[in-house]
Amino acid sequence: MTQTVAAIVWFAGLVGWTIIRQPFERRAKKVAVKKSLFDRRESGLLALALLGLFAIPAVYVLTGFPAAFDRPFVAWIAWAGLVPDVAALWLFRRSHADLGRNWSISLELRDAHTLVKSGVYRRIRHPMYTSFFLLGVAQALLLPNWLVGLAGIAGAAVLFGFRVGREEKMMLESFGEDYRTYMAHTKRIVPWII
Ligand code: SAH
Repeated sequence: MTQTVAAIVWFAGLVGWTIIRQPFERRAKKVAVKKSLFDRRESGLLALALLGLFAIPAVYVLTGFPAAFDRPFVAWIAWAGLVPDVAALWLFRRSHADLGRNWSISLELRDAHTLVKSGVYRRIRHPMYTSFFLLGVAQALLLPNWLVGLAGIAGAAVLFGFRVGREEKMMLESFGEDYRTYMAHTKRIVPWII
């Protein structure tokens, strides 16, 4: 794999990501929201995730900036990046499909919101955030730049770190004992571990 091919693979991952989300976003718009915690803090977190996983790598791929943080390009490392890239897309798709009409880009409860505990939600409570981390890891392996590599993982970490507690509190308030039991039987982003 050459550096250009690795950049194209990174870009294809993002295109795949956007295509996967489209139909779910369209469907979700049709379901009314009964409670929303979408505020400036939430928009800020989404913007930071987008900065790390999209804007910074896009600038790097198009202009080579910031070249001061370049590391040598190693073909097998770029090849290894394909694994988390494909895994991220698979998990992103599965988690949207399993959440169905309960999905939101932010923290929201929809009309007739149900608690999903099956499919990829069986062992982890936040597979979609796992897929963000996997995308960040893919970015770090595909693009030979330390800063750009860290930016994706940092973007995912900021969104996850500042959102997950609030999300779980919202779910606990809505689903009570059911969510508490679900929490007791699952981890957040890595089955059996974290
Ligand atoms: N944190 C989850 C979902 C992200 S989408 C993940 O990473 O996979 C965010 C929305 O999903 C939130 O607004 C919340 O209402 C909803 N949500 C989160 N977990 C859920 C679950 N187990 N069942 C139903 N809805 C859930």
